[in-house]
Amino acid sequence: KDNLNSKYGFENFVVGPSNQLAYAASVAVSENPAKAYNPLFIYGGVGLGKTHLLHAIGNSIKKNNPNARVLYISSEEFTNELINSIQYKKMTQFRNKYRNLDCLLIDDIQFISKKERTEEEFFHTFNALYESQKQIIITSDKPPNEIPDIENRLKSRFSWGLIVDIQPPELETRIAIIRKKAELFNLEISQEIIEFIASSISSNVREIEGALIKISAYKSIMRKPVTLNLVKSILQDIIIRKEKMLTAENIQKTVAKHFNISVDSLKSSTRKKEILIPREIAMYLTRKITKNSLPEIKAKFGVKSHATIINACKRIESEMEKDINLKKKVEEIEKEITDV
Ligand code: ADP
Ligand code: MG
Repeated sequence: KDNLNSKYGFENFVVGPSNQLAYAASVAVSENPAKAYNPLFIYGGVGLGKTHLLHAIGNSIKKNNPNARVLYISSEEFTNELINSIQYKKMTQFRNKYRNLDCLLIDDIQFISKKERTEEEFFHTFNALYESQKQIIITSDKPPNEIPDIENRLKSRFSWGLIVDIQPPELETRIAIIRKKAELFNLEISQEIIEFIASSISSNVREIEGALIKISAYKSIMRKPVTLNLVKSILQDIIIRKEKMLTAENIQKTVAKHFNISVDSLKSSTRKKEILIPREIAMYLTRKITKNSLPEIKAKFGVKSHATIINACKRIESEMEKDINLKKKVEEIEKEITDV
């Protein structure tokens, strides 16, 4: 039993700038197991295709070599199996099972953190497979060095091969994904609707899929043509949730959190650098990503003139060009606010 889901293949994975390295590395590993990159470590946010790629690698290895011993497992299942094996004194079987694989695909490794015995056992499994030149592919929501509470010896092993990330798909990639999925679901939708969905759901492919399933359900149950208005009402929850996030208040809160200061101090008029920079970043982001007018922004930040806001935006823009760390930080905050 390999736990592989034949639904997930390379042929139905849509490739764009946000995932092309992860995709190419996955293909390379499946063509040359244990020779290309070992381990391959793929990380990224929820619903961006990590599990899909793991299954695609497994399916492709099995297609090239039907005798290959491949196993897909989530780190939670690995943990449960370990606990059972300890309880029923079947550790030898457990070890034989894992250490005799040709390819281990382990999903969401972040969940083994703080589970000492699981970490210990996984460490030995990893070493055994690695030493006998068997392929290991690991996914996680974060890069190895940012997974909290996981042993350093594991983190360091995760970095022995290749680490690749998956980012949320750009608009064009989202459009391509929607086209592909609509085709799979046998759902005919207009370009206008495709673009509407792509611009309403930005950071989670699973959510895009959910919307399409809902649209097809409406279509087959009500037997009505899929119109833009119908789609708008179906996606209303998501759109409202998104608009709620895009407020000056939420931006102030998020920026304050990132700089470890309070919202009150962020809004105060001090010129202290530790406060002034976050305040200007919050103004810049409010101007950039909300629909607020200058007078509205003025009121929300309690400043007296428009020039204060415009100058803050200019200063942050030019600082971002000079200071890569600041640029990264601002982008990270913006992503947190707009990813809903
Ligand atoms: P993750 O494991 O990163 O949370 P999944 O692999 O479960 O995400 O992906 C969620 C859903 O979105 C799956 O049904 C998957 O097929 C689909 N998906 C994600 N990225 C893509 C892509 N680039 N092309 C096609 N489908 C995708
Ligand atoms: Mg997953």
